[in-house]
Amino acid sequence: MNRGLRRLTAAGSALVCALASTVACSNDDTSEAPGAGAVRPGRFASADPGSVNTYWIKAPEGLVLVDTLRTPADARKAVARIRKTGEPVVAILLTHSHPDHVGGAGAFHQAFPHAPIHASRATDKVMREDRRGFYPLARSAHPGFPAELVHADRIFEDGAPLRVGGLRVETAQFAAGESDTATVYYRPATADLFSGDLAGREVTPALIEGNTCGWLRILTRLESRFPDARTMYPGHGVPGPAAALIDEQRRYLQRFRGLVRPAVGPDSPEGATVTPGEQKSITAELERAYPDHPPVADLPNLVRENIRAVGRELTAEGAARHDRC
Ligand SMILES: [Zn+2]
Repeated sequence: MNRGLRRLTAAGSALVCALASTVACSNDDTSEAPGAGAVRPGRFASADPGSVNTYWIKAPEGLVLVDTLRTPADARKAVARIRKTGEPVVAILLTHSHPDHVGGAGAFHQAFPHAPIHASRATDKVMREDRRGFYPLARSAHPGFPAELVHADRIFEDGAPLRVGGLRVETAQFAAGESDTATVYYRPATADLFSGDLAGREVTPALIEGNTCGWLRILTRLESRFPDARTMYPGHGVPGPAAALIDEQRRYLQRFRGLVRPAVGPDSPEGATVTPGEQKSITAELERAYPDHPPVADLPNLVRENIRAVGRELTAEGAARHDRC
């Protein structure tokens, strides 16, 4: 497709999206942002279960990618889509070390060998150490996960501003929440916030690190750090208004903690142990409140593992009857 036709198609697609306001429109959307004069980031979402996003931002010198998907096979599908833009890829940014965001880095590096892979110092450290053993776990759960990871070759100090591909980007680093460490990227020119997994949209998150309290605090800090953020581009689910996505994530975490708390509280029949019956009723309540929220991980029994992890977290907090987070 030539450039003119592509623009025309993109403009038509933007109009349809504006009128319909449907979620499907965000997928691989390279249309113009209304009034901003800037091209909206493109998006490729891998298939469910465990659908994950990679984005590409139009920068003065080419495309800047955010995150690299779970597997090289997924990454190659995204590469095919990105090549259709006709733009060179000039940089790749990582949001955090979780397998579903870094497993495809090698395939992206192979496709775009001149694009440096950037990560914060904290993210690079967690990725290299993998103290939680997430990469072996990902390999056992998914045969497509690579035997060898490709690491970042450009490390920036936590929270440092970046200039990539002629693009000015602010960063912020948050510890001990959804992941041990997480980087967000903010583009002031367009008020776009690339939030990794700090806020997803209509998905079942992974709470297996048992840090929902830390995560809730991070959401408050995220709001105050980027008060002007307009659109949030999450690691899972479709982009949307930043304030709404943060609020959705906060409510989910609060509700989840509220559901698990009685199961590990002093009045629970088996104390801090979540019984199969309690597990079942919490799961049913979650399914009722969040129907059709696909899991962000392709691990079996993500919800059961989430309940266990949050149960342990609440027990360690002292199973307080009133939430202090
Ligand atoms: Zn993720």
